[in-house]
Amino acid sequence: MKKVGFIGWRGMVGSVLVERMRQEQDFEGVEAVFFSTSQAGQRGPDVGAGATPLRDASNLEDLMDMEILVSCQGGDYTKEIHPQLRQAGWEGFWVDAASALRMEKDSTVVLDPVNRKLIDQRLESGTKDFIGGNCTVSLMLMGLQGLFDAGLVEWLSAMTYQSASGAGAQNMKELVSQMAALGAAGSELASDPASQVLELDRLITRKMRDGSLPCENFGAPLAASLIPWIDSAMECGRTREEWKGMAETNRILGSTEQPIPVDGQCVRVGAMRCHSQALTLKLKH
Ligand code: NAP
Repeated sequence: MKKVGFIGWRGMVGSVLVERMRQEQDFEGVEAVFFSTSQAGQRGPDVGAGATPLRDASNLEDLMDMEILVSCQGGDYTKEIHPQLRQAGWEGFWVDAASALRMEKDSTVVLDPVNRKLIDQRLESGTKDFIGGNCTVSLMLMGLQGLFDAGLVEWLSAMTYQSASGAGAQNMKELVSQMAALGAAGSELASDPASQVLELDRLITRKMRDGSLPCENFGAPLAASLIPWIDSAMECGRTREEWKGMAETNRILGSTEQPIPVDGQCVRVGAMRCHSQALTLKLKH
């Protein structure tokens, strides 16, 4: 049985992964070991073989004992731990949700079945780092696989409407807290059939601007609004999320030598789960 270590299993991506692996019975046939950066020693999840204490996700010796490490912890963790493991001679498979290693020459961005062939080639040639793609790019490519396979896409523009889940568990909680604060502020006027809607609108707008909403994670109110900005600024003038559209699409498709131009605008909206995208494509014929 392969020993597989999971780091970041209680975050947004990790929770979805664990739930899906349970449904698919993917924990059968592997020895799953759960790590944590903040809860080492506490009870881990029971995925069929009983719950065991969580291991410390910074303990290199414990990590190196695994044949496969699956990290949904985030880029800072990857940047800190992955090089130390490799320098110490660990030769296991590193499977990661974070973007930190996506552009490294020794890693492969995976999107099965879209680039299954590339994944198989890389497995055969000894690649050990397999990195999940950005959610927006992955969703777009899954929907458009047929057009890409047929070589028909000349360029594309993606307008995305991305939910709070894309930013992680803490952000989803923050959105709900913002909603609760707005709900509390407006409840009296909202439930009064005789109240004026513009009065309610002004009250909610004032509340959004008075600095009292919890914004530690998003940096701005998302409830009752949207944020046309995701991640950090790039020199090219786009946000990193928008830049990933082109960089990762071509990396996944293996077309970095002759890249397909991809541009767009990425907007965070106050939905809990699910991204929407509006795509404009120029086809070659
Ligand atoms: P996340 O929800 O913020 O979880 C990351 C870690 O935060 C958890 O593993 C947990 O680590 C810690 N944490 C602290 N407070 C928590 C709380 N209240 N609930 C749950 N976890 C908490 O991050 P994520 O969205 O899953 O993203 C993980 C990585 O995948 C990131 O690099 C992200 O960019 C990337 N990614 C995300 C998505 C997406 O749709 N969210 C899609 C593709 C890629 P400890 O247990 O060690 O404390």
